[in-house]
Amino acid sequence: MSANTQAPTLPLPPRDITALAATLLELDDMLVSCMRCGFCQSVCPVYGASLREADVTRGKIALLENLARHIITDAESVNDKLNRCLLCGSCQANCPSGVRIMDIFLRARSIVRGYLGLSPIKKIIFRGLLVRPGLFDGFMSLSKTFQGLLIKDNHNAAGTCQAPLFSAITGNRHFPALAKKPFHATTHALKEKAGSGRPVAALFPGCVSDKIFPQLAQATLRILRKHQTGIFLPSGQNCCGIPALASGDRKTFVQLVRQNLAIFNSEPFDYLLTPCATCAATIKEIWPGFREDFSPEEQATLKAMSEKAIDITAFTVDVLKAELPESAQGGRRVTYHDACHLNKSLNVSSQPRQILKSLPGLEFVEMPEADRCCGSGGSFTLAYYDLSKKIGQRKRDNIVSVKPDLVAAACPACMMQIMDMLSRNGDNIQVKHVAELYADSLSGVDS
Ligand code: SF4
Ligand code: SF4
Repeated sequence: MSANTQAPTLPLPPRDITALAATLLELDDMLVSCMRCGFCQSVCPVYGASLREADVTRGKIALLENLARHIITDAESVNDKLNRCLLCGSCQANCPSGVRIMDIFLRARSIVRGYLGLSPIKKIIFRGLLVRPGLFDGFMSLSKTFQGLLIKDNHNAAGTCQAPLFSAITGNRHFPALAKKPFHATTHALKEKAGSGRPVAALFPGCVSDKIFPQLAQATLRILRKHQTGIFLPSGQNCCGIPALASGDRKTFVQLVRQNLAIFNSEPFDYLLTPCATCAATIKEIWPGFREDFSPEEQATLKAMSEKAIDITAFTVDVLKAELPESAQGGRRVTYHDACHLNKSLNVSSQPRQILKSLPGLEFVEMPEADRCCGSGGSFTLAYYDLSKKIGQRKRDNIVSVKPDLVAAACPACMMQIMDMLSRNGDNIQVKHVAELYADSLSGVDS
């Protein structure tokens, strides 16, 4: 071959190209069920904020039908179009053809990321830190030590702070500080026997509950103890993997799941319990969708774990059958935001309301569009903060319209986004997890 007829240099070695081609074919098979009805458009929060067809599922599916060609033409632009999505599942929940949209989007992101490669910073975070829980905890502990020098407490009901020196990076975001002591530092591995006839729950607090809202993991323990539930809390737990997978890093996702399978497979339990809606939905819905990445033995454990996964509100109502008579006492007004991963992915919406309506000293008020996404979407809010704020502002306006004293949610990621929106607007409204409010109503239980 002469110098000027040489084949173009490909960015990937041949083995990776073969894997990429196989994933592209797999994706093609999943796309055929979309009939282009457009029902997904009206429910998409990103489309609602941008009014761009490329942002809605139908537009993204059109892009994916020619993915190989689009990647070769302009992979960065494909990456941007795919990432302009909250992975909220609103489209999937409303799709009459049952298109497995979340699965498709996650696979497509991993294809594009496989072609482009991970950014150096994500490589450090996902492949250096996240897969090494001890190192990750140490890094967060170091960050917590220095955060006092960098952040300014807003002294508001939402409990947020800001980092004025880093506003160019944070977008002047209002956020909760890292906890003084993460949950794992105060509560080590636990094995507690169940009361007669009560189930055993393995507790998966999730990264955000562990490092930012440890009071939430403590509240979950208080609920379990009040109801004499057996508790299995293994140490060395890993992230559920969704931040890596959503960024297209399927390899790290698989490694994190694999590590969690090994940790949780060491003891028998009836339920895998988490106070994080995103972790619950990831374990229940996303893990099984990628089962082909695991050995047959791992697949069996994965299936069992995903079937046992449950969030704390559904567990309290449906499994523990907690007595929750509707309270007539009134008091502080509380409204509820439906986390997408709880409502749309797991169909849990009545249980948290049932709990809130039973709590003494609180009056439950329904907000308009309670089930509309808050605009968080994990890394979406970091990459597309302007869009995220626009979606979040609508959530904030809906919250404020019912004049609550506090807003409850069942997902730590939603809590952070709502805190940001309320704090930005100077609203004097607290943000709490439903489990915290329920645990506060229980007497005589130590966590
Ligand atoms: S609602 Fe479902 S079938 Fe209709 S366009 Fe959207 S993804 Fe396709
Ligand atoms: S997952 Fe949510 S943000 Fe993404 S396309 Fe579907 S409805 Fe829109």
